[in-house]
Amino acid sequence: MKTKQKKYSIESTLIHGKNVTKKWDFSHHVVPPISSSCTFRLESTKRGALGFAEFAHHNDENAISARAPIYIYDRLGEPNKEVLEENLAAAEHGDVAVTFSTGMAAVSAAFGAVTGTGDEIIAHNILYGCTYSLLTNWYPRYKISTKFVNMKDSKNILRAITSQTRVVYFETPVNPTLELIDIGAIVKLVKNLNKKRAKERKIYIIVDNTFASPYCQRPIEQGVNFVIASLTKNICGFGTDMGGVVIGPKWSFDILLLYRKDFGGALAAKSAWPLLVYGLPSLATRMRQEIVTAHAVASFLENDSRVEFVSYPGLRSFPQLDLAKKQMKDYDGKFAPGSILYFVLKGKTPQIQHNRGEKFINYVAKNAYSITLAVSLGHIRTLIEHPSSMTHSAIPLDEQMKSGLNPGGIRLSVGLEKPADIMRDLGDALDNL
Ligand SMILES: *Cc1c(COP(=O)(O)O)cnc(C)c1O
Repeated sequence: MKTKQKKYSIESTLIHGKNVTKKWDFSHHVVPPISSSCTFRLESTKRGALGFAEFAHHNDENAISARAPIYIYDRLGEPNKEVLEENLAAAEHGDVAVTFSTGMAAVSAAFGAVTGTGDEIIAHNILYGCTYSLLTNWYPRYKISTKFVNMKDSKNILRAITSQTRVVYFETPVNPTLELIDIGAIVKLVKNLNKKRAKERKIYIIVDNTFASPYCQRPIEQGVNFVIASLTKNICGFGTDMGGVVIGPKWSFDILLLYRKDFGGALAAKSAWPLLVYGLPSLATRMRQEIVTAHAVASFLENDSRVEFVSYPGLRSFPQLDLAKKQMKDYDGKFAPGSILYFVLKGKTPQIQHNRGEKFINYVAKNAYSITLAVSLGHIRTLIEHPSSMTHSAIPLDEQMKSGLNPGGIRLSVGLEKPADIMRDLGDALDNL
């Protein structure tokens, strides 16, 4: 039995996991079997009572035991999810991971764990559309307010902070513009502020790492408190299952488990399994290839006279190239600028750029073989979409323009097809503008 996993790379760990895990004894299987049971046999009321007493008591030293957990009911915990959670924590270099049914369930759980009525959140002014909607349409009902600021300049956070601020929240690279937010600068700023704050008033930094994936960026290594991710994207990778995860410090484990138990967004065991068996083990290999292809496609578009600009953190023309090299790195420390790019077609006005972008995407939707018009990202199939009218339509158009989201912008999530095929389809659509 192989138990010396610590000596091996993260890439191998994501394939083999902990090998021998307390979460489940499946030592005669090579592949973790699918567990699909909503409820679990308890041989005595005593064992049942112990299971309930131990649930979400990880911070109570006396309750932690060296034996396998007592599984009670799927929403509280079950083997497939818990083995996956061990591997997700390893992938992001965090202490603990708790999975959820979707990325949005994970976003709500992260906020839910550290905020209450009267608290304030400071968020970057471009966010994933549903996160923006959660913060603007729902949290005001619970008197949790959000200030949106441009975090490209971390000083804007200082101006927005009050004694009620509990969370600084952002995505980097920013979806869909691919602009970066300086994780190190924000960590430094918040650490300084926290020195003067009581423990229960501390500000937590939460980063949505869906876009980069842990292969390209591990914000917790850089001092961030929580990472959330939609597992539906890069980590699943094949576009078959939805999921979400919060990765954070040890103390947050119990509250996240309680949140999942009571709000109910538990990841289905049948969805945990493909993430564990196909998604995480292939993450590094997929990302490595997608980065090479994204770079080739970005250069191809940048050199085309019909394209106004391309935003991809790996291009030499990328305005924040130094920052990209500093904070986007693979497990070996090599520059890893991700698999997503954003570009705008030429046009004298934003309206013309918008119309041409729409025509381009519609041409691709009808005629391309290797590119599919669809939302989502990080799949093995190359996906194209129009953020202004689709994923980011929850943000009012004037807000979009103010925050640098071009109404003609096109987002391309590069998959595993041959680079030449993707470029052929893009070139064909450009020729038919
Ligand atoms: C997709 C996505 C989410 C939400 O994830 P779901 O799994 O669709 O709920 C959150 N943040 C980002 C950046 C995303 O791309």
